[in-house]
Amino acid sequence: MSDLVWHHLNLCARGDPNETIADAALAVRDGDIAWLGAARDLPREFARWPHEDLGGAWVTPSLVDCHTHLVYGGDRADEFAQRLAGASYEEIARRGGGIVSTVRATREADEDALFASAAARLEPLLSEGVGAIEIKSGYGLEFGSERKMLRVARALGRRYPVSVYTTFLGAHALPPEYAGRADAYIDDVCKRMLPALADEGLVDAVDVFCERIGFTLGQSERVFEAATRLNLPVKMHAEQLSLTGGAALSARYRALSADHLEFLDEAGVQAMKEAGTVAVLLPGAYYFIRETQLPPIDLLRRHGVPIALATDSNPGTSPSTSLLAMLNLGCTLFRLTVPEVLQGVTRHAARALGRGDRHGELAPNRPADFVAWSVGTLSELAYWMGRPLAARVVRAGATVYTAPASRWISGVAADARASNRPKGA
Ligand SMILES: [Zn+2]
Repeated sequence: MSDLVWHHLNLCARGDPNETIADAALAVRDGDIAWLGAARDLPREFARWPHEDLGGAWVTPSLVDCHTHLVYGGDRADEFAQRLAGASYEEIARRGGGIVSTVRATREADEDALFASAAARLEPLLSEGVGAIEIKSGYGLEFGSERKMLRVARALGRRYPVSVYTTFLGAHALPPEYAGRADAYIDDVCKRMLPALADEGLVDAVDVFCERIGFTLGQSERVFEAATRLNLPVKMHAEQLSLTGGAALSARYRALSADHLEFLDEAGVQAMKEAGTVAVLLPGAYYFIRETQLPPIDLLRRHGVPIALATDSNPGTSPSTSLLAMLNLGCTLFRLTVPEVLQGVTRHAARALGRGDRHGELAPNRPADFVAWSVGTLSELAYWMGRPLAARVVRAGATVYTAPASRWISGVAADARASNRPKGA
């Protein structure tokens, strides 16, 4: 790849709007950043390189979505409508709804179908500047289907300009065929599924849903033990619906992150701080299930626990394909500040993946993965609701996405208005 200097830009290299460089330049060699700083300080050796003008755009590191369930079969839009029309959870479950319906649809879908449906959700994330994403298994709940999900996640990473990190979440829910035998299922997860999937190179980390409606603390610890034996990092869906002590357990296993955390207590916060475990907050799920218990933001701040935000993209509780929407929800619902949410989808999210060395920050000798935004201030990234903001997405120094030019066709809108006019008006 050829050498290039990007210039005429305002740089926010660490995702913190309090640390910016106006009129900056970025020199890229072989896909990595060779130099960055104020344009007037550009060393002479780079001045001769070809220059690309970014028109005064704000530039941040590419975004990182560190918690998603992006690969699954079907969706739950009908169930959403039924609930709004008054159906109870029990009625929906009797009609075969809930997570069981996603498990069934995921088991039935082949890899091509899963790939196509996940790609349709991935593309909007990429077009708003996501350069690294975590994708979990957990809707197969048996070896072949969990494997299929992870293979599709890997295939997405090969097809699209994004780094995909896979997480084995076999302990997401109890499959119907193991009803009443949760310990036997955890045996299968730990002794058969995880070692075989790890052996195939399909697992970057291991996750557990530790909750009254998920798995117990003891079962979660068995999964962590199995992961540790394979040298795989762990993370946990913890303290979402009740305080179980899952975050403290995660900290004992030096988890990359503990996620959700609405019911987290101060002892758990302290344990996370000491272990360096990132707090991943998921405002999309909080919003969608109309949760009212707020995560302990002030405790996390006071103890200096890094906070990340993610979409939790999934069919049941967060059918979101926008990480920027999470910035807005994080600010409005959790009262996080703009610097907190921006670092929450860059630096801190990269750390939650265990890849703070590669993603979430722009610095010399790191990949030139960045986004040029069509905004006047960085606060706009958290302010707009649903407005496309990425003008250009660059990966390893190469432009991989530019905002599409307007496709409006003149004349059509006026005709449509005429035909929609109510009769007799
Ligand atoms: Zn989740």
